Amino acid sequence: MRSVIVIGGGISGLAAAWQLRGRADVTVLESDPRIGGKLRTSSVAGIPVDEGAESIMALRPEAVELAQEVGLGADLCDPSSAPTTVWTHSALRPMPRGHVMGIPTEPRTLAGTGLLSDEGLERLCREEELPATPLTGDVSVAGYLAERIGQEAVDHLVEPMLGGVYAGRADRLSLRSSMPRLAAVAEQGGSIIAALRRVRAAGAPKASPVQGVRGGTGRLPMAVAEASGARILTSTRARDLQRTPAGKWRVLAVTGDGPLVMEADAVILALPAYAAGELLRGHAPAADEELSAIVHASTAVVTMAFNRAQAPVLPDGNGFLVPAVDGHTIKAASFLSNKWGWLAESSPDMFVLRASIGRAGEEAQLDAPDRHLIRTAVSELHLAAGRMGEPVAARVTRWTRGLPQYGVGHADRVSRIRESVGKLPGVELCGASYEGVGVAACVATGRAAARRLAE
Ligand SMILES: Cc1cc2nc3c(=O)[nH]c(=O)nc-3n(C[C@H](O)[C@H](O)[C@H](O)COP(=O)(O)OP(=O)(O)OC[C@H]3O[C@@H](n4cnc5c(N)ncnc54)[C@H](O)[C@@H]3O)c2cc1C
Repeated sequence: MRSVIVIGGGISGLAAAWQLRGRADVTVLESDPRIGGKLRTSSVAGIPVDEGAESIMALRPEAVELAQEVGLGADLCDPSSAPTTVWTHSALRPMPRGHVMGIPTEPRTLAGTGLLSDEGLERLCREEELPATPLTGDVSVAGYLAERIGQEAVDHLVEPMLGGVYAGRADRLSLRSSMPRLAAVAEQGGSIIAALRRVRAAGAPKASPVQGVRGGTGRLPMAVAEASGARILTSTRARDLQRTPAGKWRVLAVTGDGPLVMEADAVILALPAYAAGELLRGHAPAADEELSAIVHASTAVVTMAFNRAQAPVLPDGNGFLVPAVDGHTIKAASFLSNKWGWLAESSPDMFVLRASIGRAGEEAQLDAPDRHLIRTAVSELHLAAGRMGEPVAARVTRWTRGLPQYGVGHADRVSRIRESVGKLPGVELCGASYEGVGVAACVATGRAAARRLAE
């Protein structure tokens, strides 16, 4: 049996290890004391709450299928069906149902929501009459969309979604890589609103586009690791990669007990791009340069628990997104106790929510100490959703360089990286930095990397 070292014990690396089960002798090296990467559940006021990803995409199958295959099928659950709201013009305003990444498929239903001014709404509604906007090569999301739906709709509808998913900005993120569904529609020419409406009408009705895991999405990597049968070494950071004269790959790692040297027939780098670049420096300098050029945004997640009996008001709905143009510090809030039935059932006396801070380019906000971030989150939540009192417990999780930014030209950059790494026999790359940041996309890249090796 061939040996494989997977470097990085996030969901991408674990999905790769799982894919290789029974076919290779797999060891996973993870620098943190625990596996899971951005999927991590821990306790706030005794309640299990996700620190990173809290849901998995159900519109594409990979993560849901993996959860089912590793025994979590019965624990998958839908969030409450409350609409997404946007905190703007001093109120929480519901997005119309049927939007695709913020683009309404029935723009007239925005009337009366206060999300857009009358002029902004009129401009949006004119999209269906506009001539086609030619799309040659990659452009920024705002570069394309402002021409179609108007800048105000980009700022108040699309950018809040991008802030929530990528912690990114519409004028920098690539249309093709950040909104591939929209890019596909845009390439056909004509009205994107009409095209998205047709796509929605033709698609199978889904109960919910996302699902969670009872007890926390952080359970997923644990279950995958166990089902993979791989050897998992935590607190083990790979610091160098060498090719042996016999054609194997040698990994030099640092552990709490000192250095560790391992050899294998193949390695899978399931790491953020910049970390993969460091290991590839001596082997694929061109790839290293491209990998290092992928910007990663930092964010912080402030999780808070309120005692229901002491809270003067508690918010309705699942949470809200915040347009960057409104100048607030928090970019999104998720009312977890409303959103996830299992959480409300398991802790009926408490109300748990989380607020996120930090978009690409706003890293300076995160220099503040934890208590300052908590204070800011509480005061903005009071402004947005009502004076809900003070939390009885709060936790700040910092995700430094946690979210890759797919800038204009990202897909071409990834092709060049894959071409360069493809020349190294027995080396594969996977992870959030390449073909999608969501958990489902990460599972897909991990499994694809393992399949390529197996072939
Ligand atoms: C706050 C936040 C919320 C999110 N919410 C959602 C959501 O709700 N739904 C969704 O689909 N996606 C969400 N995402 C995105 C998604 O969680 C991540 O993109 C995905 O989990 C990344 O998985 P990965 O395995 O590619 O990378 P990571 O999770 O980053 O795993 C890489 C691992 O490699 C380890 N590592 C790094 N260097 C080394 C080294 N030298 N040696 C050994 N190990 C190393 C790291 O410690 C890490 O554990 C969210 C992300 C963040 C930050």
